[in-house]
Amino acid sequence: MKLCERCNRPLKTQKSMDAFMGPVCKRKAAEEAARAEFERNQVTMDEVLNHAESEKSA
Ligand SMILES: [Zn+2]
Repeated sequence: MKLCERCNRPLKTQKSMDAFMGPVCKRKAAEEAARAEFERNQVTMDEVLNHAESEKSA
């Protein structure tokens, strides 16, 4: 029997087994991925602004 990668509970459906995690954990993983992507973009935006700022003062 396959287990959920996040919580190690047994996966009940083929769909969950294909995703390696249950529906609840899958949603949480998607939320975390979306948040990580957002934060990564925030950092990128900061870097762009800092770069633009240093260009201006140089
Ligand atoms: Zn799980």
